[in-house]
Amino acid sequence: MKYLGPHVSASGGVEQAPVNAHAVGATAFALFTKNQRQWFSSPLSQKSIDAFKQYCTDFGYAPKYILPHDSYLINLGHPQQEGLEKSRASFLDELHRCEQLGLTMLNFHPGSSLREISDDECLDRIAESINIALDKTQGVTAVIENTAGQGSNMGYSFYHLAQIINKVEDKSRVGICIDTCHTFTAGYDLKDNYDAVWREFGDVVGFEYLRAIHLNDSMKPLGSRVDRHHSIGQGLLGLDFFRTLMNDERFNDIPLILETPDESLWPDEIALLHSFEK
Ligand SMILES: [Zn+2]
Ligand SMILES: [Zn+2]
Repeated sequence: MKYLGPHVSASGGVEQAPVNAHAVGATAFALFTKNQRQWFSSPLSQKSIDAFKQYCTDFGYAPKYILPHDSYLINLGHPQQEGLEKSRASFLDELHRCEQLGLTMLNFHPGSSLREISDDECLDRIAESINIALDKTQGVTAVIENTAGQGSNMGYSFYHLAQIINKVEDKSRVGICIDTCHTFTAGYDLKDNYDAVWREFGDVVGFEYLRAIHLNDSMKPLGSRVDRHHSIGQGLLGLDFFRTLMNDERFNDIPLILETPDESLWPDEIALLHSFEK
């Protein structure tokens, strides 16, 4: 069985996220637990935390189907000390918010070298950042998202993901989220080489680390290294790809998250994707 839903708004408080997810027929969802364009936000109120947990129970969202995403400002591989420390502090705050909400995963982009340090140095810094954060928290898995490789972003190659995991001390609390749009524009042909791409993922990273999927179509072509999501079936991945994925048992029982640009289509996208399941 597939668990599927969008990255919903939490404006008005985190407790609005499960309400918004339920309204579009989601069985999984993603959210920001704070303003994603700020380094720090005010702490979650006990009232918000209690309401969030209550709505999740009421609407049947277990923590394993909820995938919070961290702030876009955080760069755990930052080449400069000041930026690195600020990123590490902000990331720790994000993990604490997850702990408070009873959530078990935090999804984040690995980081960028800003072309000031080598790829290997950047990947080492990211792994060290994860180790520091996991040391100070409990019960939350750091879920690394693969990227399109835009600019100096790391994580577009499965080897980057494997290299980070290799240096994380607590392997039970590190995982991977694969974004289908990012994978395609990073150069992995999920449309015409579906089996080979997933075989490579299994060989290089391992399905035991897969915690979530971001299910997005792509506006930009294979290997373009540009990150532009499209609505399901309207981009270059196309409906046949999504039909295949929805029947692939390797993606049962993990959150499949839509980050598609037209919110008004979410209920239809969810219904369409479920209709593909045999
Ligand atoms: Zn992301
Ligand atoms: Zn993207």
